[in-house]
Amino acid sequence: MVVARVPALSASVQSYRRKQQREPSMPRILLVEDNELNRDMLSRRLTRKGYEVLMAEDGASGVALALSERPDLILMDISLPVLDGWEATRRIKADPATAAIPVIALTAHAMAGDKQTALSVGCDDYDTKPVELARLLDKMEQLLSQAPQ
Ligand code: MN
Repeated sequence: MVVARVPALSASVQSYRRKQQREPSMPRILLVEDNELNRDMLSRRLTRKGYEVLMAEDGASGVALALSERPDLILMDISLPVLDGWEATRRIKADPATAAIPVIALTAHAMAGDKQTALSVGCDDYDTKPVELARLLDKMEQLLSQAPQ
């Protein structure tokens, strides 16, 4: 007799699945951020709040993941390799398949021109780093509540 051996699920996968069952409708957030430290910290904090977080490390991967995964909202760093966050957002907003996904630009400095650029490339909102979580969550929740269901 042959018994297929099914490897035990790791604890983290089990807890992830339990979470998925408990909160089936939590929004999926795509975080596009090249700085590993920022990415890890923000993704951990958002996961703790119950969001499902997908990550991309450069602008081109961000555009590709937006199309393949259709997240509910995108957090877009601006200074990114391959494509910067402005160009990545332009492409996401130019594609009818992804145009409706809200994008919040995250810039490193409160540059005077950044807010204008954010609006001109189609960002739905804009915030500055370092991230102030409560303020960012407010902006995310506002956009998510406006999104077509
Ligand atoms: Mn960056």
